[in-house]
Amino acid sequence: MSSVQPAATDTPRKYQLFIDGQWVDAESGKTFTTPNPATGQTLAEVAEADRADVEKAVSAARRAFEGKWSRMSARDRGKLIYKLAQLIEQNSKELAQLETADNGKPIRESQYVDLPQVAENFEYFAGYATKIEGETIPVPGQMFNYTLREPLGVCGQIIPWNFPLLMAAWKLAPALAAGNTVVLKPAEQTPVTAMELGRLIQEAGFPDGVVNIVPGYGETAGVALASHPGIDKIAFTGSTEVGKLIAHAAADNLTKVSLELGGKAPNIVFADANLDQAVNGAMMGIFFNQGQVCCAGSRLFLSEEIKDEFLDRFKEKAQKIKVGDPSDASTQMGPQVSEEQLNRIKGYVDIAREEGANVLTGGCPPALEGDFQKGYFFQPTIFSEVKNQMRVAQEEIFGPVTSVITFKDEDDLIKQANETIYGLSAGIWTSDITRAHRFAREIKAGVVWINTFNMFNAASPFGGYKQSGYGREMGKHALELYTQVKSVWVDLSGKPIGWFGK
Ligand code: ADP
Repeated sequence: MSSVQPAATDTPRKYQLFIDGQWVDAESGKTFTTPNPATGQTLAEVAEADRADVEKAVSAARRAFEGKWSRMSARDRGKLIYKLAQLIEQNSKELAQLETADNGKPIRESQYVDLPQVAENFEYFAGYATKIEGETIPVPGQMFNYTLREPLGVCGQIIPWNFPLLMAAWKLAPALAAGNTVVLKPAEQTPVTAMELGRLIQEAGFPDGVVNIVPGYGETAGVALASHPGIDKIAFTGSTEVGKLIAHAAADNLTKVSLELGGKAPNIVFADANLDQAVNGAMMGIFFNQGQVCCAGSRLFLSEEIKDEFLDRFKEKAQKIKVGDPSDASTQMGPQVSEEQLNRIKGYVDIAREEGANVLTGGCPPALEGDFQKGYFFQPTIFSEVKNQMRVAQEEIFGPVTSVITFKDEDDLIKQANETIYGLSAGIWTSDITRAHRFAREIKAGVVWINTFNMFNAASPFGGYKQSGYGREMGKHALELYTQVKSVWVDLSGKPIGWFGK
């Protein structure tokens, strides 16, 4: 039987903070509400953590780190994480419904993309708990030198609203596998599935305080966590702007930081590409998750040779996307996460027009009926006639809006593609294998997709170049973020050190 209650309830759901294995109100007694972005109706009322609650959570995480958690064997730690993966799978239908209700993403994405990847990440890192090893170093003389790879301690983790549960998984799974304890702050727009995850963490049997979850606002709970001297590491996914604030806050305590930030990925179509594949890839690049994806292919570079044909096909397909009720299995795009995001996107449509770009399709909300009239929907939108230096080509819009730029040859293309402060991802569509790999070398980005887009796996590293951040999540690289190395020296000679005389 599932322990997560289904999403469809008339009265708002209620959640407390999860601190030291207990469900508690905020010290201030304050709460906030999170709406269903498809209708604007309140989905849940959630306790609002602030500095005092973060303080309690960090202390609990410290006690857990010094106590039971550090004495637990790696095997038992791995088993707990695996148990959590299984509980997530058992509850995946309900969790997917809740994710859709809180975030607005279509249920086919929550159910078939987000939730399977959440479980996959916990499974993958469960296996790693027993495989984190040190090394022996070939130092000269009668010396034995080895390393221990140890956890950092208490990790603060601040996550965004675009993949709420998946971002929690990317952060929690490696941190726990490596033996750390965590204070997790979900985004204020989408706290619900993180709180349900807290219940499953309890059900799996993690010791109290190993994972603490403190929903609240960035300016209060987020700031308190990032600037807390009692944490050993802060991991953040979100905007580049907030990433810089976090890095500043952490610098005062020299807290270790990893950042996964914004992007403005080039998605590039050469004239020799399979156009059916490339058109679908462009759709996947910008309309998946309503374009609220940090690695979205939001700069679509088209070879001048195929531009007209490509745009005809792309526009026709974009106009056929089914936008509407995200809980309907046939819906392809739901609402944006919030009114704020919707307004931001509308603002960029005005900017595009002022800059001289052409709104080829979309550019406004769709006409929907009933409760959905109050939702934060926006049509799939294509800006053509864009120049790479325009704001719509340089700034992250974070919506279903792509900017089309044309190019003549490869040199011209690479120059333009790299002319951005970001460097998270890039896509290329071509049938020329050498060109594809040459591009993969020349582009300054952490992930390159060749004849595909938005591919992820728990075993494959993800993270940014340039102002898209630092550190790699997933795969074995994620363990670098959550461990530190200790070098241990042993004198095997049994003789006194002769340096100052015998
Ligand atoms: P977006 O702009 O897409 O909403 P943000 O980068 O603002 O994304 O938010 C991502 C996460 O960072 C959220 O959990 C949010 O509450 C948190 N956050 C926002 N501002 C701060 C801040 N100044 N310090 C710490 N966390 C913050």
